[in-house]
Amino acid sequence: MARVLVLGGGFGGVSAATELSRALGDDHEVILVDRSSHFVMGLRKLWALVGLGRLEDGSRDLSLLRGQGIRFEPREILSIDPAGRGVTTDRGDLAANYLVVALGAEPRPDLVPGLAEHGHNVWAAAGVPALKADLEAFDGGSIVIAIAGMPYTCPPAPFECAMLLDDFLRERGIRGRASITVTTPKPILLPNAGVAGSEWLAEQLAARGISYETGLEVKSVEEGTIDYGDDRLDFDLLIGVPPHRPPPVVAESALAGPRGWVSVDPGTFETSHAGVFAIGDVTKVSLANGLPLPKAGVMADLEGQRVAAAIAARVLGLEPPGLFDGRGFCFLEMSKSTAALIEGSFYARPEPRVVIAGESEDHAGRKHRFEQERLERWFGG
Ligand SMILES: Cc1cc2nc3c(=O)[nH]c(=O)nc-3n(C[C@H](O)[C@H](O)[C@H](O)COP(=O)(O)OP(=O)(O)OC[C@H]3O[C@@H](n4cnc5c(N)ncnc54)[C@H](O)[C@@H]3O)c2cc1C
Repeated sequence: MARVLVLGGGFGGVSAATELSRALGDDHEVILVDRSSHFVMGLRKLWALVGLGRLEDGSRDLSLLRGQGIRFEPREILSIDPAGRGVTTDRGDLAANYLVVALGAEPRPDLVPGLAEHGHNVWAAAGVPALKADLEAFDGGSIVIAIAGMPYTCPPAPFECAMLLDDFLRERGIRGRASITVTTPKPILLPNAGVAGSEWLAEQLAARGISYETGLEVKSVEEGTIDYGDDRLDFDLLIGVPPHRPPPVVAESALAGPRGWVSVDPGTFETSHAGVFAIGDVTKVSLANGLPLPKAGVMADLEGQRVAAAIAARVLGLEPPGLFDGRGFCFLEMSKSTAALIEGSFYARPEPRVVIAGESEDHAGRKHRFEQERLERWFGG
C-alpha cells in the first residue's frame, strides 16, 4: 500500500488530495494535513466586502474530505524532511511514499512599517469583517488600494477590488464623494498580461474614474498618508496588498530555494527530491521573460490535478501524464455583475501569450460556476 501526504488544505492541496483519492481508490492512503479545520475560497474575500455573498458560503469543513476517502489530520506542521518524505507536527511525526507540499504564501503586512496599523488587509480572511464594516460606514473621501510589495497572490485582485468598490459606492449613491486610487511598484499594471493587457486594464479603470499610479514603492505608512519616498499620498481608507512570503516551515526546510520559495520542474512540479512535489503559491516558477508564474487558485488547482495524476501513475505502474503546459485563466471582475476572461499560455516563448475577452455578465456567471463546481467536486457541494 502506498501512502501520500498532502501538506496544506487550500486550493492546491484539496485539489491534489481529491484527485489522488479518486485515482488510487481504497488500496492506498491519502492523508491531508492542515492547521486550519476549514477550507476558505480566496475569491470570496472580495465578494464578501461588497455584499456578493458571505465568506462562510465558500468555506467547508476539511473533515468532509473523509467522505472522499481522505484522512484529514488537523495539525500544525513544525518541520519538513524531504529526504525522509516526512513531517514533524504538533501531534507527532508522519511519513509517506510521496509528499505534496501545498502550504501557500503568507501575507506579511508587518514587513512594511505602519501598514498593519493603518491599512486593511483582506489578503487574510480575518481582515474581511473590519474592512466590510468600514466600507458600510464610509460616507465619502479617498480610498487607496496600495500594492505594498511583491509577490502577492492573485495579481488582478487589487484592480478587481477597485472596480467592485466603484460599483458598490455607485449603488450606495456616494461615488461622487469618493475617489479610488490603485498604486503598484511595477512599471505596468499587470506584468503577466504584458503591455497590451495592462493598457486595456488602464482604460477600464479610467472609464470608471479610478486613478492608478505605477512605479510607486511603499516605504512606510502613517496615519492618513503613504510615504513612497519621493511621493506621498493621503487616504481616508487604505487597503494594503501586503508582500507575501513562504511559510516559515517551508523557508526553513531543505526545500527552500531562492528567497525561501520552492523551486520545481515547471512541467512536473517535482522538486529536486524525488517523490516530493510542490504546487500553488508556495512555488516559484520562472517564465521565459523572467516573470514568475502568477500565484492563483486556478493555477494551484491545475497543478494539483497534474501532480495527482503523476503520483497515481507511479503507484499504479501506468504511463506518466503529459507535462503541465502552463495554461491558465482567470475571470477579472469588473462590477458586481460583470467580468472579463483572461486566458494565458504562461510557458509561451519569448513571453506569455495572454488573450482578454471583454466584460460580460456571462463571464461573471462562469466565475460563480467555477467556485460551485470546485466545491461540488471537492466536498460534494
Ligand atoms: C482577495 C483575493 C482574491 C482572490 N481571487 C482569486 C480568483 O478570483 N481566482 C483565483 O484563481 N485565485 C484567487 N485568489 C488566490 C487564491 O486564493 C490563492 O492563489 C490560492 O488559495 C493558493 O492556493 P494554495 O493551495 O497554494 O495555498 P492556500 O490556499 O493558501 O493553502 C495553504 C494552506 O496551508 C496551510 N498551512 C500553511 N502553513 C501550515 C503549517 N505550518 N501547518 C499546517 N498547515 C499550514 C494553511 O492553513 C492553508 O490552508 C485570490 C486571493 C485573494 C487574497
